[in-house]
Amino acid sequence: MVPGVRLIVFGRQGAGKGTQCIRLARHFVVPHISTGDILRAAIKSGTELGHKVESVIAGGNLVTDELMLEIVDDRLQKPDARNRGFILDGFPRTIPQAQGLMDLLQPRGLDRAIDLDVPEDIVLHRLSIRRVCRDCGANYSTKKRPHTNWTCDVCGGEVWQRPDDTEEAIRQRLDLYAAQTEPLTKWFADQGLLSVVDGVGITDEVTERLLKAIEDARR
Ligand code: ADP
Repeated sequence: MVPGVRLIVFGRQGAGKGTQCIRLARHFVVPHISTGDILRAAIKSGTELGHKVESVIAGGNLVTDELMLEIVDDRLQKPDARNRGFILDGFPRTIPQAQGLMDLLQPRGLDRAIDLDVPEDIVLHRLSIRRVCRDCGANYSTKKRPHTNWTCDVCGGEVWQRPDDTEEAIRQRLDLYAAQTEPLTKWFADQGLLSVVDGVGITDEVTERLLKAIEDARR
């Protein structure tokens, strides 16, 4: 079996983190921990956490660092993550979150932080045509399927446009990314943990690049 791994993947909204993280998680047999998915699941099931974060997310804003750290700490305590590792998708996205995470990960630490790099004009286009399954999060594009309503090929759930994929919320999310998340590249580079991977191209190619960057860093 491929040995486990402890990775974080960050990158602009629409860079393809979700798709690539699912593939990496399968490859390394570790859980894919997406904070966006955790929060959306809480909203869908109407939990206290869901009520707290619903309007924050719909407006394209960030949930507080304290709450996010609590959620991630909780998830990382589970046996799958403790024993084999994890692919963290969408966390950390601020420097205080990164500091908090590194504290949680002592003594073993993190293997690698990957910046999946896709320029802003390309992600803007990808997000405007993106549709997702409300149940399992599978991604679709209106370019491949022009009609508006369809059911998910994977689970039969309803495919819709995420409420934070409106033009206004996308702009807000990208601005927050530039202000709060982009500084993480330097922060992780300073610790010798950063790999930048080009996220433009066909999905299989990008996966190959990611696997190569991870293997190179392990040597
Ligand atoms: P995206 O990165 O495409 O905006 P995600 O699915 O990763 O989408 O996250 C959706 C929303 O969930 C974010 O816009 C934000 O409101 C909230 N969120 C997810 N992860 C975090 C985090 N680490 N810190 C703060 N808010 C978060």
